Parts: sequence; C-alpha cells; structure tokens
Amino acid sequence: PSSAGSAPGFASPLTETEIAVLRRDFGILGSQVNGHPLVYLDSGATSQKPLSVLDAERAYYLTENAAVHRGAHTLAAEATERFENARETVARFVGAQPDEVVWTSNATEGINLVAYALSNASLGRGGPAAEALRIGPGDEIVVTEMEHHANLIPWQELAARTGATLKYIPIDDDGTLRLEVTAQVIGPRTRVLAFTHVSNVLGVINPVAELVALARAVGALVLLDACQSAPHLTLDVAALDVDFAVFSGHKMLAPTGIGVLYGRRELLNAMPPFLTGGSMITTVTMEKAEFLPAPQRFEAGTQKVSQAIALAAAVDYLTAVGVDRIAAHEAELGQRLVSGLRAIPGVKVLGPGVGHERVGLASFDVPGIHSHDLGQFLDDRGIAVRVGHHCAQPLHRRFGVVSSTRASTYLYTTAGEVDEFLAATVDAIAFFG
Ligand code: PLP
Repeated sequence: PSSAGSAPGFASPLTETEIAVLRRDFGILGSQVNGHPLVYLDSGATSQKPLSVLDAERAYYLTENAAVHRGAHTLAAEATERFENARETVARFVGAQPDEVVWTSNATEGINLVAYALSNASLGRGGPAAEALRIGPGDEIVVTEMEHHANLIPWQELAARTGATLKYIPIDDDGTLRLEVTAQVIGPRTRVLAFTHVSNVLGVINPVAELVALARAVGALVLLDACQSAPHLTLDVAALDVDFAVFSGHKMLAPTGIGVLYGRRELLNAMPPFLTGGSMITTVTMEKAEFLPAPQRFEAGTQKVSQAIALAAAVDYLTAVGVDRIAAHEAELGQRLVSGLRAIPGVKVLGPGVGHERVGLASFDVPGIHSHDLGQFLDDRGIAVRVGHHCAQPLHRRFGVVSSTRASTYLYTTAGEVDEFLAATVDAIAFFG
C-alpha cells in the first residue's frame, strides 16, 4: 500500500456499466444546464447526493425526529440510538472508535475546535490534564505551503493568541512537499504539525507516514486535513497514527452542515472544550461546570441529528460501491485529466505530471486567459468547474498566478465527461486566444 494508507491500483476501477447504473441514484446528474447535459466537475467543492442519503434524512424526520440525549420518551430514545449508530458507522469507516468521533458542522469547525481548545489549555483551562497541551512563546506550529485557508488561518490565529510562531513546509516547483527541508522546519520546538492529506488544488497525496514520523520524533501533535481524502481514498486514522483528522460530509455524498473531528481518546479527554453550553456537562453551579467526557464535551447545544444520519447513509453508499474501487477509478481519471491538459498548448498544470500518485483532480492556468472567462465558457456548455483561488491564496502565489481553473471528479464521473471538458477547454483557448 502507498503511504497514503490506501491502495488505489490494487482494486479494479469501476466499470462504465457500474458508473452508468450508479449515476441513476444522482438525479441532478441527468439535468440540463444551458441547453447541455450537465457535466459536473466540481465535486472537490461539494459532491452530489444519492437518493438513499436524501431518503435517510427524510425518513428520520418522518418517523423518528426528537431531541437527542435529552428526552425520556420513546422517540427521543430512538433518535438518540440512530444518532449514536451513525457515529459508529462513521467511526468504523475511518478506523476510529465511536467516542473518538466528534460531530462538527464542517472541517473548518473541526480545525477551529482543536485550535481553540489548545488556546484554552494555554490559558490554564483544563487543569492538570491539559498542562501538556499548553502552547506559548518560543513554541512552533507547522503547516505546509499548500494548505486550504481552513487549515492555515486557525493556526495563524492560535499563534497570535499564544505568542507561538507559525512555520511552513515549502513546496517544490512540481507541487510536492520539499521533504529534504522538512526535517529543518519540524524541530524540537514544534508543538503542532497540521497538513492536508490531499491538496484541494494540486490533487497530490502527501506522504503522511514520513511527516508523522518527523512530528512523533519531536513529540508534536499531528492534525490531518482529510477533506479531500476521506471521500476518495480508504482512510484509516489509527494506521496513519495521527492525533486529529477532520473532514466534511458534504464532499462525500452527505448534506451540508455535518463534519467530523477525529481525535485520539486520551487527547480529547484532556482538552478543555471550545464551545460550551447545554448537553456537554455533568454538574453546573452558578460558579462553575464539570464537563462530560469526549465526544459530548465538544458537542454543546442541539445537535445535527438528521445530517449525521445522512452522513452514515453516505458512508454506507460509499462502502457498498467500494472506496478502493472509487480510488482506482479516480486515479485513472486524474491521470487522464493531467495528460489531457498537458497536451493542450498554452495550458500550465499546477502540480506534478502524469504518473505521480494523485486523486481525480487537476488545476491549471492559461496565461493570458482569466479563469473566470474560461469557467464561463465551459458553463455555457453545461460543464461545471471551479475557478478562482480555491481558498489557497499562498499556494497560487507560490506558482505566480492569482487564480486557476479546477476540474474535480468523483465516483459518478465518466471518462467521457473528462474528454468533453478537455475538448471544450481547447475550444475556449482558441476562442479567447
Ligand atoms: N480543507 C480542504 C483540503 C478542503 O478542500 C476544504 C474544502 O474546500 C476544506 C478544508 C474546508 O472544508 P469546509 O468548507 O467543508 O469546512
């Protein structure tokens, strides 16, 4: 298996017939946009949802809706059971234990939760258990140059609040991490290493095992941004030996409003909470409160019950299709995208070329043509891509561009759709060039 903890290439890719069959579960994929059949190449931003996921949410509201962990009546007990079963399903999907899965509204909230909990520990909250989590002046937090803003700004803010220094692992011209300098960036003062498993701009899969080993050697905590890996690769947080991992449901067939923070049990239980209020306490006086163990101590307020149940349905769907087979399919699409784009004169692909391990996602720049114009041209043909900086301004700056065009695939994307996008891109360049 690769260092990504997944093994695309060992599983057989989805066949054209299988894709044609599963596409029927995604009603929106049959729609027309601007008089053309929709070609949806923006799954990196958010995925489409199959009927079984929508049905799971609807069925919950039709038959089981109640407040969880609060009522003594039958419906409340059923809703609580379904909510906790969803947690078990999602935990199993990523190799975690149920009490190590904290529901958040998205990955962004998960990263902020960890950063604020560390900040609270640094203020002396959390008692002796949180003592080892204190961060202060002289300490270092390390990220990479390819982070989504969601895995950059919370660390900038934590550094500002605690007096710590933020450092980053630079990337090479080909978009891969400069591992030869990483050992100098991660040092004895590093307290946190936060990095993305898969870049949302470059599609590259980062070498998790090597980075974790460097962090472990200096006793730093590791947070993995699994937003672009959990939907597309087999993810095993225990095997990867990370302390925290975050991902968003909406990128993996589930609705918006639900995300996951995985945290090692002993760490979560040592961390002071981020949000406080109802449902996360044991006893409260007018002066102070005692907190429940994880995950409840991080789930203040009324929870995202229908969304969690829908995420479990999404996980069931992905599991039934086979995540390794999805990964193999998308690995093929990723190579097809990159080789096709590189063959178009004037196109500059951001990130490594054909043959490098990647997911089914590629971003590119066409000097002289603005990505918004390109996106508009493609949209006129029913092709949906992402244009702009994809919440990664420093990464674009590294490549000397302000924006790029990104095509991203998922299990329902066909090779024919990728070819259609490539042909339309050729036409767009001829039109604007
Ligand atoms: N990290 C990466 C790599 C992403 O691709 C995204 C989403 O675009 C995020 C973090 C943030 O996800 P969300 O906006 O769902 O919190």
